[in-house]
Amino acid sequence: MGKYLDVPFPKVKNVFDGHIHMHRWRLEQTGEKFIHGLEEYRRACGLKYIALASLPSGNPIPAPRDVSNNIMCAFYKLANENTFAYGGFIYPSYPACESEMEGMSIEEQLDELIEIGFDGIKMLEGKPNLYAKVKKPLDGDFFEGALAKMEREGTYLLMHAVDPELFWTTTDEELVKKGWTYGDSTKYPSSEEIYEQVENLLEKHPKLNLCLAHFFFCSEKPEKLERMFEKYENLSIDITPGGEMYISFAKRREYFKAFFEKYQDRIIFGTDMDFTPHLESGIWLCDRVYRFLATSEELSSFDDHMLAGLSLSGEALQKIFSDNLLGKLGTRPKETNKVALKRYIEKYKHLITDKELSRYIDTLSEEYLK
Ligand SMILES: [Zn+2]
Repeated sequence: MGKYLDVPFPKVKNVFDGHIHMHRWRLEQTGEKFIHGLEEYRRACGLKYIALASLPSGNPIPAPRDVSNNIMCAFYKLANENTFAYGGFIYPSYPACESEMEGMSIEEQLDELIEIGFDGIKMLEGKPNLYAKVKKPLDGDFFEGALAKMEREGTYLLMHAVDPELFWTTTDEELVKKGWTYGDSTKYPSSEEIYEQVENLLEKHPKLNLCLAHFFFCSEKPEKLERMFEKYENLSIDITPGGEMYISFAKRREYFKAFFEKYQDRIIFGTDMDFTPHLESGIWLCDRVYRFLATSEELSSFDDHMLAGLSLSGEALQKIFSDNLLGKLGTRPKETNKVALKRYIEKYKHLITDKELSRYIDTLSEEYLK
């Protein structure tokens, strides 16, 4: 057998990559714009559906994190078939301040995003570096109205909360550069604090259609997830790497094989692929995640570990790689409301920091929002 399977995802129909980002709006080298920029990745990996998770707030690495990311995700969805998208909340300044957010409270923003036709919401506000900027507890009043509404309406919420425990102790240069090290307790919350806030918000909103990204960083403590799955019927997790989770899965192979079979309705596939697409690493990721779940062959996988996979049932694979997320989002992406998107662009355009991108958005509006 070659390095990759000849046919990607051979046992699954309508594969859905449920966790993708749009980090840049054009390629520096070629000038290629984002507008169809992930289609080659989709074709190469045999994906039927993708979902873009907008990242409109946080540190401007590698590109501006502002309202433009919501707008780009909306345009991408409009211009490409079978693309779903989750919108994110924006902050005119940090820390978030209610008085500066008049007319754009979190609840109002939620309404705007849903009206545009976003298929769900992405929150990165529980990732410690953004948490430290926004400075609003996830279970506090600030998000309460929006969370209550999402629970009522069954809105899909993909939430990144916490991070690998290692990030609180490491001095790894790469992580330091990204601002992903949280040793300074005067600046950053502990992982326990965030875990507790997520559990509190679920306590308040037990029917929330919440998907906790990256296995909720619980691959060393999956019993925590078991407990939460028993309590919250709409809770799911995604298995978007962090390779560390696959290494943990392989360490307790029998346990996790049973876990994945038992909770096969709660687990969702994603890659964290982005534009600009790293095509080779995208293919590698899809291949390795699929083979880890579908086979028991021992493969050089995450962080070059030789990992033997879980060889799950065909039924579980179909759900994890497609059916679970389609079940949550509906079988088609929501229609885009062009009038609402236009209104949104007009309202928030002044917050776009890259003027060239702002002009390109004007061009796209001309082309797509007539
Ligand atoms: Zn992500």
